[in-house]
Amino acid sequence: MIIFRGRAELQLYIQSIKNEGKSIGFFPTMGALHEGHIALLHSSKKRCDLTVCSIFVNPTQFTNAEDLEKYPRTPGNDILLLEQNGCDVLFMPQSEDIYSGEKPLNLYLGNLETSFEGSSRPGHFTGVARIVRLLLEAVDPHDAFFGWKDLQQCLVIDSMVKQLNMKFRLHFMPTLREADGLAMSSRNRRLNSTQREAAPLIYKALSEAREKVNSHSVSQIISDSIALIESSPELTVDYFAIADPLNLEPLHSVEGVSSPVALAAVFAGNIRLIDNLFLK
Ligand code: AMP
Repeated sequence: MIIFRGRAELQLYIQSIKNEGKSIGFFPTMGALHEGHIALLHSSKKRCDLTVCSIFVNPTQFTNAEDLEKYPRTPGNDILLLEQNGCDVLFMPQSEDIYSGEKPLNLYLGNLETSFEGSSRPGHFTGVARIVRLLLEAVDPHDAFFGWKDLQQCLVIDSMVKQLNMKFRLHFMPTLREADGLAMSSRNRRLNSTQREAAPLIYKALSEAREKVNSHSVSQIISDSIALIESSPELTVDYFAIADPLNLEPLHSVEGVSSPVALAAVFAGNIRLIDNLFLK
């Protein structure tokens, strides 16, 4: 695996690979890699000749200084894991380099920017869109891979790609889970043992919501789900909602909606975990 820290060097290399007629796959990450990230790597390897991973803990998308400071950073392990799984290129930019020469980004994100994750973390998706655009422009891939676990992020990126008329294929991949159902996440490493034991209640609540979707009202499902998660003193629900995945409008009834999605954000202490599940 070749590691690039400078954008210009990366771009020269990518161009030389494209000149050979080869295709480029790309998946951006913030490191502290786990099997969920590696699944994106394998999806890219299946489709593309050369796979690029980026690791960059992007300060502009953090709305809480402590969260940024405590975000897990495990570069040695990350490099090993990527190498073991056949990643071709790792891009680890410096902030000054990747943000230098940034052009203004005028996006209309509507309620995607302000609902759910946007409402709990104001400015988060503007930060996400800024860095993802810069990384995508740096790598200029044929295919880019993102995890559906960050559903609202997927919708923001989809909207940005359309508005900027970016020319690559976007792929949204399913969520990888631990054996007990907890969605894999870099933040899971920060959970202490009692928080880790309680955390699978999030997936349990989402799964029960799916079982009840045709027999219970949306408001009943939501209150049951919150009660189940908060049956553990370790967990506090930030939001639990059922929404239309096309526009993230909250639903009061699922009648006639082909694929409603349940979305959850839950605090374990000050660690915020998110997950989602399609209900039909
Ligand atoms: P992150 O490093 O958390 O910013 O995530 C980098 C990419 O990996 C994003 O596209 C995430 O949606 C994706 N991802 C994170 N966790 C998972 C998971 N459990 N399963 C699949 N993809 C994931």
